[in-house]
Formats: sequence, structure tokens, C-alpha cells
Amino acid sequence: MIYQTDVLIIGTGIAGLSTAIQLAQARPEVKIRVVSKTNKAECNTKYAQGGIAAVWDRNQDDFEKHVLDTLDAGDELCNESIVRMVVEEGPQRVRELIEWGARFDKIDAMHYDLAREGGHSEKRILHFQDVTGAEIERALLEKTSRFDNIELLEHYYAIDVITQHHLGYNVTRIMPDIECYGAYLLNLKNLEVETHLAKITILATGGTGQIYRTTTNPLVATGDGIAMMYRAKGHVENMEFVQFHPTALYRPTSENPAFLISEAVRGFGGILKTQDGQEFMQHYDERRSLAPRDIVARAIDNEMKMRGEDYVCLDCRHLDPTEFKKHFPNIYDKCLSIGIDPMEQMIPVVPACHYMCGGIKVDDFGRSSIHYLYACGESTNTGLHGANRLASNSLLEAAVFGYRIAQDVAQKIHALQIKAGIPEWDATGTAHPKELVLITQSIKELKEIMSYYVGIVRSNVRLERALNRLHLLYEETEDLYHSTTLSAALCELRNLITIGYLVTRSASMRRESRGLHYTTDYPEKQDFKQSTLL
Ligand SMILES: Cc1cc2nc3c(=O)[nH]c(=O)nc-3n(C[C@H](O)[C@H](O)[C@H](O)COP(=O)(O)OP(=O)(O)OC[C@H]3O[C@@H](n4cnc5c(N)ncnc54)[C@H](O)[C@@H]3O)c2cc1C
Repeated sequence: MIYQTDVLIIGTGIAGLSTAIQLAQARPEVKIRVVSKTNKAECNTKYAQGGIAAVWDRNQDDFEKHVLDTLDAGDELCNESIVRMVVEEGPQRVRELIEWGARFDKIDAMHYDLAREGGHSEKRILHFQDVTGAEIERALLEKTSRFDNIELLEHYYAIDVITQHHLGYNVTRIMPDIECYGAYLLNLKNLEVETHLAKITILATGGTGQIYRTTTNPLVATGDGIAMMYRAKGHVENMEFVQFHPTALYRPTSENPAFLISEAVRGFGGILKTQDGQEFMQHYDERRSLAPRDIVARAIDNEMKMRGEDYVCLDCRHLDPTEFKKHFPNIYDKCLSIGIDPMEQMIPVVPACHYMCGGIKVDDFGRSSIHYLYACGESTNTGLHGANRLASNSLLEAAVFGYRIAQDVAQKIHALQIKAGIPEWDATGTAHPKELVLITQSIKELKEIMSYYVGIVRSNVRLERALNRLHLLYEETEDLYHSTTLSAALCELRNLITIGYLVTRSASMRRESRGLHYTTDYPEKQDFKQSTLL
């Protein structure tokens, strides 16, 4: 079946929905179709706890401080003009979220309860208890439902974006005029592949955490958009910069996703200690438990390795119990549910893969290297995060770029046409898979490879091993892909392998340690500051 719309948005997190709302407001006559691969609310956005960063109290804070904090975290790889733009436009985007119905905690009728997180020099994080993302997602979905020109399809899996390749042309990575005409979507209710043509396509597919064994990202975070972009020969960059959150709740039987103990708990006074109750962060950074995430995660990794222990602890026993429960009701309840009272026992924590700083290379209006194809949110590399993301800057980035993409698309859309002559998906020669274990086992292998060889601390030998093993997995999976009818699981496996390859390859190209990338073979930072473009 072939369907048409003006704008096709893949993803229903903050990136996809805020773009859709901004565009629907700017151009009520433009038809917008937004798709999600599971139910509409399941995405990284829903799990965000800490909040959204914005300069809010101009008596205490100013744009310059937020800019400097972001640049400092990014370890000289941020694009300063993008940082300034996001920081300066950020407060207006947050005001819009509030107008659209998102609630943030207040200390009184006039003032928001601003929190401070690691790497921030001022209190500037707006939050709703410790479930900010769920609140934002709720408000965005509600607002979206009020527009007649937005159609939302759940359980539609985007397989690939459509380019000249599907018209039989040989498309290469150095070709300057690749064009996107929409995407092939697998309707997960009847397993039919549908052709969805659009004048503009926007990838808002979120993060990549599922390449690792322990991650705070939900199961949908398989890097589909980045993998699609790479297959379409678009530009992807800085994929080595994977942020490990220092403090996910440790469980002896690992949970997927791992439960996050927000950075805000450390901002609130929680202190990292070893299992025997010794503070250790003073050996690594003068900001101690509030140092940027990369420093804290490496410090924890080092302490665990030196002591041969599976976790360290977050001590909150000295904090005011009433205030703690008021600020972190979700974290408090989760801890209680596993038999830990944070007011009486230390919380066991481990680092877990949390955020992808790199991704689809886009410009200041979210335009990718492929014509008519934009990208927004965690799947992108805008230049904001550089080599390391400052806490709570990602929701902000998605809101700011969602607005800018909508403005750009609104200006151009009426001059564009739907491409004619696009062939439907060809499934000839494929059969139903006989052994699903081939897929599940390969996903497990991939997670092991990435966790052992391409984790917080890397080396040439480990990266080479990872590349060899990934190559084998890639060959096996391509054979399966070409002989089997499509399923979301098989497509996700294929995408996860591509993301694993992109992270590992980018890591081997960076012959220095910078930001989130640390290698024992090149422990120092070099003078050159270039991105790793693949
Ligand atoms: C536990 C946790 C806590 C966090 N806390 C914070 C915080 O406090 N502050 C902050 O700024 N950031 C935080 N982050 C990061 C932030 O939540 C994400 O970076 C942000 O929400 C990403 O939004 P997004 O719209 O780009 O992607 P997502 O919200 O992940 O949305 C992705 C969407 O794409 C869809 N999709 C993906 N692939 C396909 C496909 N093939 N076909 C169809 N649909 C597809 C999914 O179904 C989903 O709808 C946190 C992340 C996690 C996991």
C-alpha cells in the first residue's frame, strides 16, 4: 500500500511531538503524520527524571553561565554558536511547554523550584517531582491530540528512509544531492510493509542505549534513525561519545532498563561512597559527587575495579527525610520496593549507558546531509553536547530544534512535491523465520561485545576485538535479513549492530582521550578538536 502525507515524523518523544505541534500551529493546512514503533508514550522522554535546564531566575543566573557550563562539559568539541542559540532560545521553549500544559514544581505561586545538577554552576533545572519526562510526554500527547492536521500512528516500525537508491540509482556517501521521499513502514498489526511518501521526513527516533547490557534507556532505544541515516549514506558523527550515567540502581539480576537514580539526588546532597562507607570522589575532582558525569562514571568504574566490587553506594541517610520523599517520591518508592530504605541504608549504584551525544549530523535548523530529511532530539549531533552532554540539556535541545525545524519546514513545504514512481517494498524470496533464537542470541552477543570492549574505558586491543566480532554478527544478520520476512526484532538487531559498529569505529578513529571517550592507549587530550564523521 502507498500512502501520502506532507510531513512524516518518525518518533513520538519530545523531539517528534514538539516538532509536530510547532508545525501544526504554524501551518494548520499541512498534513502531519507521526509514528511510533510501540505505544505512543513509550520513549526515553517518558523516563527523564531530573528535568529541563533553562536560565530562569535572571537575578541569580544568566545565559553566559549556562553557555560556559555547557562548553566546559563538552570538552572543546561543542559548536559554540549552537550552544548560545539553544541556551538563549531555551527559556521561551520551556514557557511554551508550560502553556501546552506541562507542570513543573513551584516553591510558591510565582517561583519555580529550580534544581541544580552536576556540572551546572547555578540552579536552573525545572522539574516535576522526579518524573519530569513523564509529565512533559503527557502534556505533549494531550496537546497533539487537539490538532486536526496531526495524525498519530502507533505500532508502525520505520524500516528505512526512501532515497534514489530505491529508484535503482547507485547512492554513495560522497554524493551531494541525495534526496529523501518518505519511509517504508512495517505495520506491526498485520506485518505488511507500507510505503509512506512525504515531502519532508523527520527522524526523531531517540537514543541507542540498548547496545549495552546495562542501560537506563527503554527497549525502544535501538538507534533506528541513526542506523537508517547511515544506510541511506547520510552523515553521522561523534558516535564514540556515549554517556554512562554514574548512578543506576544496582540489582544483582540486571534489569532492562536499569532504574535511574537521578543526578538531582547528588545535587540535593547525596554522597558517593564505597561499600564500606568511605567517600572517594575527592581523589578525582574538586567538585566531588557533583563533578560532570564522565568524571564520576570513570571514578566509580575505577573504584569498582580496584576493589573487585560490583557496585558503589549513594548515601542519603543524612538528608531531610520529608524533603527527600517530596522531591524524589518515585526513587524512594522504587528503593523501598527492593527492600532499601534510603533514609536508613545506602543505595547501591552502578554506571549504566544513558545517552548518545553523537548521531545524525544536522545544521542549526535540523537539516541533515540528505535533502528533505531532518532530524531532531537524541538521534542527532547538533553540536550542543560536544564530547559530553551537560545534565538536562537534552530535553531542551529537542524543544529548541523542534521549533527551528518547524519554522524551516513551514517556509518551504508549499514549494515541494511528493515524488512519483517510488516502488513498493519487495518481499519476494523471503520466508518466515524458523528460529527466533538466532535473533535473541545475537542481541545478547552484541550487548556483551559492547559492554566488555567498548565501555567506559577503552583500548586499541579491545576495540579491534569488538570490530572483528561485530563483523561476524553483521554478516550473519544480513543473511538472515535477506532471506526472512521482516519483524521489528530483526530490524532492531540489524540497527543495533550498525550502531555498535559506528560507536566502535568512531572510538578507534579518536586517538586521544576527550570527554566521554577514554582510552588507555591515548590517555591525554590532543590539540586538534575535530569531530569523527562517518
Ligand atoms: C532514565 C532517563 C532519564 C533521563 N533524564 C533526563 C533529564 O532529566 N533531563 C534531560 O534533559 N534528559 C534526560 N534524559 C534524556 C532524554 O530523556 C532524552 O534524550 C530525550 O527524551 C530524547 O527524546 P527524543 O524525542 O529524541 O527520543 P525518545 O523520547 O526516545 O523518542 C523516540 C521515539 O522514536 C520512536 N521510534 C524509534 N525508532 C523507531 C522506528 N524504527 N520506527 C518508528 N518509531 C520509532 C519511538 O517509538 C519513540 O516514540 C533521560 C533519559 C533517560 C533514559
